[in-house]
Amino acid sequence: MSSKLQAPRGTFDVLPADAPARQTVEDASKRILEAAGYRRIETPAFESTELFARGVGEATDIVQKEMFSFEGFSLRPEGTAPVCRAYLDHGMHKLPQPVKLWYLGPYFRHERPQAGRYRQFWQVGAEAIGSDDPSVDAEIIVLLQALLDELGARELRLRIASLGTPASRAGYREVLQAYLREHAGELSAETRERIDLNPLRAFDAKDPGTQRVMDDAPRLADHLDDDDREHFAQVTDLLARAGVEWEHDDRLVRGLDYYTRTIFEFTSDALGAQSGVGGGGRYDGLMEQLGGPATPGCGFAAGVERMLLASEARPQPAASCDLFLAWESSERADAFALATEARRAGLAAQLDLAGRSIKGQMKQADRTGARYVAILYPDGTVLRDMDSGQEEKVERPGVVAGVLKGRHAL
Ligand code: AMP
Repeated sequence: MSSKLQAPRGTFDVLPADAPARQTVEDASKRILEAAGYRRIETPAFESTELFARGVGEATDIVQKEMFSFEGFSLRPEGTAPVCRAYLDHGMHKLPQPVKLWYLGPYFRHERPQAGRYRQFWQVGAEAIGSDDPSVDAEIIVLLQALLDELGARELRLRIASLGTPASRAGYREVLQAYLREHAGELSAETRERIDLNPLRAFDAKDPGTQRVMDDAPRLADHLDDDDREHFAQVTDLLARAGVEWEHDDRLVRGLDYYTRTIFEFTSDALGAQSGVGGGGRYDGLMEQLGGPATPGCGFAAGVERMLLASEARPQPAASCDLFLAWESSERADAFALATEARRAGLAAQLDLAGRSIKGQMKQADRTGARYVAILYPDGTVLRDMDSGQEEKVERPGVVAGVLKGRHAL
């Protein structure tokens, strides 16, 4: 016998029992985002590798280590660069700005699998492209907060910071690099190697020596220019007006290079090591990186599995069944025709598909939670009301009408 095949590590099956909870995420996302004017977009599951190299950044862990790539393409590790590519491809700059889009689908990262961290996971995201107004940043954050609240995510914390514009960040980068070189001996080898390419990641380091050095490191917040400072102040004022609680965290680092100005992350203390439920920020330089005209944008992405892990499990109502058709073997074709008729009439109808005895079929009807069972014998038909246990003899052409009438009466 051949050995049993297994799903790849870091992937999971969405079983029927898991589907309703995931559906609530989709329904809540659609309701909340579309009420704010966001419209759904879906881009392909794979794109040219170059899109992510340019969009997410050559120096990022995502591009260097975490992409599944083949023949010049990569499975998408994130959604913002693809949505910006689509914005450019379809000339969306001609639409009223900002163009507001949302999406929900699978994403792929070649990470070390652990609880809450998968190699294929789902994200819901929203992007508002074409305006650098602080109200866009605030709206994106408020909408993600609304979604997390709606799903019942527990013990949430919102951290925000401003990364400034590329110009102010470049100045700060040099100051930080000089500081890191001065303390090179106390840093982890990994952080030392990143001084040239990605010095900001040092704030993210787990090793205690590096963390001690970073406690006294120069902060980006002290190097923002006046415009960046004012933009950030307006975003936080708007959040305060919306009643959103947040913490300023000037050590916040995001694993993607495209951010400018506002960045934010929601974490849940109810989760373990992988506590990030969703985050995002502004990416005013991204469109140019992709070869388009300068176009500001801001968005969020939140992990579907993480949001569900952070939420109270809610009991899901079982799917209903209005009519179950049980049949003796000579009556199969009639049962099949009646099931089809019932479904066309809008009823939830099932019939026995396993050649069970009448007794076995009644048990099966019970398991499906059927409201009525029609039992087709060679010499007649009985309709049983499963709530009251009452049975009556009926004509077959009247079965569907009888169930519809009974359902109306409820
Ligand atoms: P990021 O694009 O890295 O900011 O990720 C946005 C959100 O996607 C995170 O806050 C997580 O909720 C989720 N996420 C990212 N990577 C993974 C992963 N490997 N497995 C599950 N969820 C993830």
